[in-house]
Amino acid sequence: MASKVATKPKKSSKKAPAKKPAPQKWESRAVTRLIEAGSMTECEHCGERVKFRARHRDMQVICNVYTKGVWTRVEHYHEECYIKADEPFGPPED
Ligand SMILES: [Zn+2]
Repeated sequence: MASKVATKPKKSSKKAPAKKPAPQKWESRAVTRLIEAGSMTECEHCGERVKFRARHRDMQVICNVYTKGVWTRVEHYHEECYIKADEPFGPPED
């Protein structure tokens, strides 16, 4: 007497979902922006006010600083100072 083993065709649902967690890399980055009227920030490099001057279209560099993937702070630089500081957060984007 042979025992009959029912071999039911199993519906294979073993396909792993192709859901890849997007590796979100939050890195410090810098952008160049016009200094706006009423700007009250200080330059991280020289410590002076990043001042708006009428008729000068001065640029500043704004950096979003991330530490270990977590946003920490914003730093402002005179465009010139950022370059003097050796672009600590990489080349600024527009
Ligand atoms: Zn400066």
